[in-house]
Amino acid sequence: MSLSLSAEQPDEPADAADGVWLECIECGDTFAPFDDIRYTCDECDGLLEVRYADLPTFDDFDGHGVWRYADALPFEEGVSIQEGATPLYEVPRLEESVGVEALRIKHEGMNPTGSFKDRGMTVGVRVAKELGVGRLACASTGNTSAALAAYGSRGGMQTLVLLPAGKVAAGKIAQASLHGARILEVDGNFDACLDIVQELAAQGEAYLLNSLNPFRLEGQKTIGLEILEGFLADYDAVPDRIVLPVGNAGNTSALYKAFRELVQAGELDEDDVPKLTGVQAEGAAPMVEAIENDADEVRRWDDVETRATAIRIGNPVNAPKALPGIRETGGTAVAVSDEEITEAQRDIAGEGIGVEPASAASVAGLRKLRTEGVVDDDERVACLTTGHLLKDPDAAAAAGSEPEPVPAETQGVLEHL
Ligand SMILES: *Cc1c(COP(=O)(O)O)cnc(C)c1O
Ligand SMILES: [Zn+2]
Repeated sequence: MSLSLSAEQPDEPADAADGVWLECIECGDTFAPFDDIRYTCDECDGLLEVRYADLPTFDDFDGHGVWRYADALPFEEGVSIQEGATPLYEVPRLEESVGVEALRIKHEGMNPTGSFKDRGMTVGVRVAKELGVGRLACASTGNTSAALAAYGSRGGMQTLVLLPAGKVAAGKIAQASLHGARILEVDGNFDACLDIVQELAAQGEAYLLNSLNPFRLEGQKTIGLEILEGFLADYDAVPDRIVLPVGNAGNTSALYKAFRELVQAGELDEDDVPKLTGVQAEGAAPMVEAIENDADEVRRWDDVETRATAIRIGNPVNAPKALPGIRETGGTAVAVSDEEITEAQRDIAGEGIGVEPASAASVAGLRKLRTEGVVDDDERVACLTTGHLLKDPDAAAAAGSEPEPVPAETQGVLEHL
């Protein structure tokens, strides 16, 4: 099976270009990477992955940010706004209260547009240039549209974004708007937006930059590579576990791919691969359901609801890549309530780190799994926080303290205090 941790490095097929090709994860068919536009397999409609004839070792990485990892990517440079190289914060109080050997927060909110989506777009928009397409499009719970709008404008291309009306946080719409995207507000949920944009892409109307696009996930692999390098520098070992919020399961798939490639390159022992641990909101937890039921496929949830709007997704498109990732690494998946998410958002904020609700799901999930004894107290853990606090100012204000009105003179302020 191509997605097994012990899979052999495949032979380079004739349709590879400079040692890069696309391969179907279901039937193994291979395709030239940049001759035609395709998002899934022509034969069986399975998901595609990018393959390389040569896989890099840690020594090959050089420079700063996403493009430090160029040897693990299809190009030497992308359409870049200096994405990646995000902080791996120490959080001593949180580490103590959760009760693990080490806890670090990888804060992806510190990317140029405030979410990890930038890592995928710097690669995806570069590919769009290679393919010579004019219009880029995505469905989005918000952050993908912000990143696409910024990277599309950087690359001098038109962008079209489909958003679920009334379900996108204010900061994200503002970004898409100012960076010049055409914003279509769809009277439906995210999954309906994705269905539509996939059909537009299939009709050649636009180049699709959702995480169904295999090249975007290549950029997102660099989250995993940065976490590993950070832990190796600080602990001389990779983390035991990486906990991350799950929406379409793009990151889960991308991190797993990064680790598989390191195993294939002989840089990481199969037994040392961090346990990928996915967290969803209770109101949108189809991946958790599949893991708990040991199911081969994820059942689409038609009605999803959570305050964590970035992961309000009922049909995680990358599930066929992510389920093996969770299982093969010995990880798990867990659902948390909106209250637990808000509590975690406050806890993280108490360490000076501002994240949006979906991001806090990682810490909420870790706490829950620690309480249940699934996570041991001797584990070193990285929690991924996917987006910045300012993305969703309304959620932050609701989770924080109320402003107190005071008179416009010092004595009055003193009396109030
Ligand atoms: C996109 C997004 C997610 C979901 O990531 P997937 O890779 O689709 O699982 C989680 N959190 C935030 C803030 C996001 O923007
Ligand atoms: Zn196929």
